[in-house]
Amino acid sequence: MTASTSSLPCRLALKGDLLDFTASPAWGAIDSPAVRFQPGHWLLIEAGRIAGSQLEAPDETWERHDHSGRLILPGFIDTHVHCPQLDVIGSYGAELLDWLNRYTFPAEIRYSDPAVAKFGAERFLDALLAHGTTAAVVFPTVHKVSAEALFEAAAVRGMRLVTGKVLMDRHAPDGLRDDVEQAERDCIDLIARFHGRDRLAYAVTVRFAPTSTPAQLAMAGALCRADASLFMQTHVAENRAEVAWVAELFPTARSYLDVYAREGLLHPRAVLAHGIWLDDEDKRVLAASGAQVAFCPSSNLFLGSGLFDWPAAQRAGFQVSAASDVGGGTSLSMQRNLLDGYKVQAMAGHRMTAWAGLHAATRGAAEALGLAHEIGSFDVGTLADVCVWDWASGPVAQARQQVARELHEKVFAWMTLSDERDLVSCYVGGKVRFQPDKGH
Ligand SMILES: [Zn+2]
Repeated sequence: MTASTSSLPCRLALKGDLLDFTASPAWGAIDSPAVRFQPGHWLLIEAGRIAGSQLEAPDETWERHDHSGRLILPGFIDTHVHCPQLDVIGSYGAELLDWLNRYTFPAEIRYSDPAVAKFGAERFLDALLAHGTTAAVVFPTVHKVSAEALFEAAAVRGMRLVTGKVLMDRHAPDGLRDDVEQAERDCIDLIARFHGRDRLAYAVTVRFAPTSTPAQLAMAGALCRADASLFMQTHVAENRAEVAWVAELFPTARSYLDVYAREGLLHPRAVLAHGIWLDDEDKRVLAASGAQVAFCPSSNLFLGSGLFDWPAAQRAGFQVSAASDVGGGTSLSMQRNLLDGYKVQAMAGHRMTAWAGLHAATRGAAEALGLAHEIGSFDVGTLADVCVWDWASGPVAQARQQVARELHEKVFAWMTLSDERDLVSCYVGGKVRFQPDKGH
């Protein structure tokens, strides 16, 4: 259900096993001081914000929701996901460029219709909440109305949402191209109406370098330079054929990343999806810019794009968050994506701890976005975007949990074996926004 009609209790306390992070866990560390685990504690929420935690039950002035024996996490943050692509999730047999033309572009054309855009935005955000994702950085389509629909639907749900009309003025079919002048007018209007309103923020949204002319990229860079509070989102170096195409289209650029860098699109509020095929200079530029890479493992595996080297990113010093990239990704579930992330790292001989993965989907993403004061942890004063999960469902996961000897083993097994079906309750700003109908 979507509990849009439920009232907001002034003082709310949730009991369960509280897990969040106070800092960034060191790569590979099983025992990390950055992990804050408070089993059987009450999480206190006042006026929609985290007010603290304690072992003893709060008095009767608090509305109490007892989830003893369950896991309570900050809501997940998906830093790269496409609203209109729910319709093409799980599409067979294509690499990136072919997949865009065969599946994605036809799905996106329909979002020129305001009714389709509104329905799609509502369905998409409800799906995020049903997967325990309470904040996201989202691609709509090229159509202004698709961004408006997402902003409006997120405002109704009280969600933290970063999005913006997609810029693409070439190499896309009829009905999916804009032009520089109209796109600039649309961006300025959307920024004025939505950026900084409620929990909404505008992202200058370049689909990827091949679908924007140099003039449009320059316009996008000018928007970013004019207002440092704007986000920027795009794709970079996902697939080798794509990288080769960008080299043809931008022969004077040093690299794919440089196409963005020289237009002023790399800054601390920039989110670049994938970043698989980057060289050492690109990594240095990324680290110096403060931009982050959204690691999209299920998409990278599904489309055969490549294996992102997370430890190399750590050595270079740029930030990495976790993302689903649906519909190239195969699930909105962050657990499923983190499991794929573990496998991607394992293929290169690295081991991603549950701490690294869960941090990248909560506090790490929040810090990379500059939003750690609002989301990603149970720090006092942050908004109470909180999800309650079953530790296990079904005999296999339950048996696995029973033999887990220490905390990382228990949480890693949860990350590996659970998905959205284990979600018990999803709160946004202290208000229940999703509770599954478990049939009882
Ligand atoms: Zn994407």
